[in-house]
Amino acid sequence: MKATIGTDLERAAAHLRAGELVAIPTETVYGLAANALDAAASLRIFEAKQRPAFDPLIVHVHSREQALELCEPPPAEALALMDAFWPGPLTLVLRKRARIPDVVTSGLDTVALRQPAHALTAELLARLPFPLAAPSANLFGRTSPTTAQHVAEQLGERIAYILDGGPCSVGVESTILGWEDGRAVLYRPGGTPLEAIERVVGRVDPAQKRVLPAAPGMLAAHYAPRTPLELGDIDALLERGAGRRVAVLAFDRPRPAHACRVLSPSGDLAEAARRLFSSLRELDAAGAELIVAECVPELGLGRAINDRLRRAAAARSARH
Ligand code: AMP
Ligand code: MG
Repeated sequence: MKATIGTDLERAAAHLRAGELVAIPTETVYGLAANALDAAASLRIFEAKQRPAFDPLIVHVHSREQALELCEPPPAEALALMDAFWPGPLTLVLRKRARIPDVVTSGLDTVALRQPAHALTAELLARLPFPLAAPSANLFGRTSPTTAQHVAEQLGERIAYILDGGPCSVGVESTILGWEDGRAVLYRPGGTPLEAIERVVGRVDPAQKRVLPAAPGMLAAHYAPRTPLELGDIDALLERGAGRRVAVLAFDRPRPAHACRVLSPSGDLAEAARRLFSSLRELDAAGAELIVAECVPELGLGRAINDRLRRAAAARSARH
């Protein structure tokens, strides 16, 4: 099989109705989608991505009404967050109803729900009589795709159709929020800034309970290029790497190096997020022995960028 890239919504819908996989554009990253109410179809996502069964999927809906059919009545805070940020890059973890198959939630009694903002995928969801389970459309642990071509490079042989919605406008995955003992908690920083969320629900703490029975280090190491990545002070790392082929992923200022990408010359965190994954891919293809990168300011979308960079760097130490 070789995936076709196109913009044919009816074809995408037909594959999905037949229980097949389709890559879909969202404002965060491209997703690998299947019928979320069909256990066999959703299982194909895990197979194609080589994703471990303990890592649950996000379920994408076309409306708040559809979301409310999939979960138990949510806390008032969740409804307020849907009002404020849906459609958009915010995923809410709520108590699930039985119609969501266990394979989608990895056996958890909660389900992660999101209404994506991308116009093409919103239209696709509105045509379908079921929601779509969709993790990022990359091989497990690797860099997330932000264009249809990125998807084709990693998964082109395993799926029939890639719906092309252009480059992703946010570029990092959704923020994931849940509730522990009635209090909102953060599972993953992402495309909706924590500061904006806190203006709606007050202070949000990091999640305390261990949700995923993950092998230690398994999920800490993620988003990895094949080239080892080190995170720290770029100039010091370059000095240490003198004589080697070192590529640089800088926030706002270029450096002389084997290859260099600047995330945002003007220091704009939204632009940096948009460019993060494609820059990582380009540097990974540049034939360097090492990629060195620096953290960006830890605020707004910067939290999500730093989270992805830390995990890409952790993948390196996990390999060694
Ligand atoms: P992605 O691969 O970007 O689609 O991310 C899916 C992530 O959502 C998983 O790795 C989990 O971290 C998170 N997630 C999904 N479902 C749940 C859930 N029921 N409870 C907590 N986190 C979840
Ligand atoms: Mg992912």
